[in-house]
Amino acid sequence: MQSAALAATKSDAPEFPVPANTYAETVVSVTHYTDNLFSFRITRPAAFRFRSGEFVMIGLPNAQKPVFRAYSIASPAWDEEVEFYSIKVPDGPLTQHLQKIQPGDTVLMKQKSTGTLVLDALKPGKRLWLVATGTGFAPWASLLRDPETYEKFDEVVVTNTCRDAADLAYGNHLIASLHADPLIGELTAGRVKYIATTTREPSAHMGRITTLIENGELFRMVGCAPFDPEIDRVMICGSMAMLNDVKALIETHGLEEGSNAKPADFVVERAFVG
Ligand SMILES: Cc1cc2nc3c(=O)[nH]c(=O)nc-3n(C[C@H](O)[C@H](O)[C@H](O)COP(=O)(O)OP(=O)(O)OC[C@H]3O[C@@H](n4cnc5c(N)ncnc54)[C@H](O)[C@@H]3O)c2cc1C
Repeated sequence: MQSAALAATKSDAPEFPVPANTYAETVVSVTHYTDNLFSFRITRPAAFRFRSGEFVMIGLPNAQKPVFRAYSIASPAWDEEVEFYSIKVPDGPLTQHLQKIQPGDTVLMKQKSTGTLVLDALKPGKRLWLVATGTGFAPWASLLRDPETYEKFDEVVVTNTCRDAADLAYGNHLIASLHADPLIGELTAGRVKYIATTTREPSAHMGRITTLIENGELFRMVGCAPFDPEIDRVMICGSMAMLNDVKALIETHGLEEGSNAKPADFVVERAFVG
């Protein structure tokens, strides 16, 4: 097993060659929220193009064959930097090292991004629901800051469900910063509804998102009718169990799953494998 010291730092620049079709970018900033969650921003290669909501493979230059993992891009397509929101898995092959990165360090990023959580995979609608648990919030941080989201939808409802209140910090901060954003502040005013819930620690709003959909509480909080295929489009990102449960629930309302090849009413992507 590699020691944490192998993680590249500015003083101990990578000795290993950069793999093919991979960018080597510089960490610009790192923010830690809890013992388990942090976000970071890296420089953006001029040639790197992606659609808001997509994911890309990232790694560290700490081995001949570095470990790469899928990461949702949390910054919007227009941003000059690339942002990620990450879990810290204590023995995780990537994140045991990644959680120690500092400004000036190098992060590897594969050149090709992909994914189903893109506006192109949805048919036109009026209200966009962005449903996340845990780090599944990352693609929403991208889409919520993209003007195209507000060109295509009148209203956006974003849900953020975590065990403890502290785990909601990244999402809370992102939502608070939306209105202050010079580029999209005007677009988002009065059009974004944010529903943050906890499942373990007592908070203002408690409950699993599936429970809140089933008992109608989610729609009462938003002040709208339940999912309607004429109006509502849904994106879901989180654990496999949550995806399957929410997917089954929204299918009972007549919404159909879409993809890049066949846009429809909702799309799903898991936030991690496991
Ligand atoms: C399409 C896709 C997009 C992803 N986007 C992100 C992202 O934006 N941010 C992010 O932190 N991770 C994301 N992941 C998970 C990521 O690829 C890695 O699994 C994660 O960074 C941990 O890597 P690791 O090598 O340290 O541990 P791994 O060996 O990958 O995982 C170790 C254990 O931790 C669990 N785990 C891994 N990731 C998470 C997570 N995010 N939340 C809760 N439990 C987890 C796994 O189920 C596994 O049991 C995404 C995965 C996929 C498939």
